[in-house]
Amino acid sequence: MVGGNSIRSIRGMNDLLPADIPAWQAVEDTIRSVVSHYGYQEIRTPVIEQTELFQRSIGEGTDIVEKEMYTFNDNNGDSLTLRPEATASCVRAGIEHGLLHNQSQRLWYLGPMFRHERPQKGRYRQFHQFGIEALGWPGPDVDAEILYLGSRLWRQLGLNDIVLEINTLGSAQARGRFRSALSEYLASRIDELDTDSRRRLQQNPLRILDSKVARTQEILADAPDLLDFIDDEDCSSFEILQGLLRAAGVEFQVNSRLVRGLDYYTGIVFEWTTDQLGAQNAICAGGRYDGLVEQLGGRSVPAAGFACGLERLIELTRLGGHLAPPVPPDIWVAIVDQAAIASGFGYSEKLRDAGYKVVANCGGGGLKKQMRRADGSGALVALVVGTEELRTQCVSVKPLRTNAPQVSVADGELLAHLKQHFDMEQ
Ligand code: ATP
Ligand code: MG
Repeated sequence: MVGGNSIRSIRGMNDLLPADIPAWQAVEDTIRSVVSHYGYQEIRTPVIEQTELFQRSIGEGTDIVEKEMYTFNDNNGDSLTLRPEATASCVRAGIEHGLLHNQSQRLWYLGPMFRHERPQKGRYRQFHQFGIEALGWPGPDVDAEILYLGSRLWRQLGLNDIVLEINTLGSAQARGRFRSALSEYLASRIDELDTDSRRRLQQNPLRILDSKVARTQEILADAPDLLDFIDDEDCSSFEILQGLLRAAGVEFQVNSRLVRGLDYYTGIVFEWTTDQLGAQNAICAGGRYDGLVEQLGGRSVPAAGFACGLERLIELTRLGGHLAPPVPPDIWVAIVDQAAIASGFGYSEKLRDAGYKVVANCGGGGLKKQMRRADGSGALVALVVGTEELRTQCVSVKPLRTNAPQVSVADGELLAHLKQHFDMEQ
């Protein structure tokens, strides 16, 4: 029971309890394995950055910067922000440490992000993203590599029904032409737009394509199509990417209405979605952001990447029944006498040296009670150490998952005996 005055966690920020952790670790292990098979290296950046970093990268007219950032002044009066995403931080770190000087970088990260959104299933105020950033290649080869990597990850996690949609936003010039045409069309139907979209019509009409308001989406169905405006060069890049995806059997759909909620994207953009999670259907999204490094004070470096929401990914694995079970100890050491603690701990350490996962009973208790704990732990075997065992220099070994009888084993033969038992169990 939580008492009336007890302190609760912040709304939209979740504790991950021990029972949740195996699923997280299994997904994280799979991620580590997949990225390492593509030569990506991990980067860890601070969770707090200067507010300006996000204003300059994500963009002033975006949902994130307009209303979702946790921003505060520190004691020096500097405006700081809990990171809402990590691409800007990766680029900042890359510039700051000279990682982009005449070299390319394949980077990945995993960690908590913070956005002040309305909490609901699949949408939290602290959530976790895994992401990759390929800095230094203009694509479309590396774009395809990134999409291969994502697809492989879903496969390895046993997830099948994830749909990949791709689009290209084209060059700045093409986007300018499209923006004018789109503005003109939307202005003609301004009375039917939602308030946010009306405001954005002045500031950044492309942002409206990202609107989640159903009526606005209906109006957009008749809007000009971005693909009709893009240049030959972008078209051919987009074609090559599609060819590379087909060659590897990566299924995709072209969706010319796909734009991303952040300003820094250029060229190819993509999103993986599922229909199994209700409204929060986006698992992973990304694209090319060739202008960002320069925008943040570096030289011009082409770049592409994606970010993937771990809470949604883990919920999907749970729905698919792929959840990893908790890992039980191998051995439970019951210590049935005060005088036997040192000896029980001695055995435990020796067994850990030999590679076993061992839980030694703490807090005393009678043999019966300790055996109940041993059974509940999921361990395969219990050792019993008490005064009798001390006297005879033996331990009692009790198999917990078979009907085999409890036996008394001499000190020097314990490891060999256990090895035999565990080999048989496998
Ligand atoms: P959405 O359209 O769902 O708001 P987004 O476009 O804001 O997503 P991105 O900024 O591209 O999302 O982040 C990439 C991924 O991170 C999303 O596809 C999603 O899986 C996850 N994500 C984003 N915001 C949240 C959140 N508040 N809670 C949980 N996961 C999130
Ligand atoms: Mg969002």
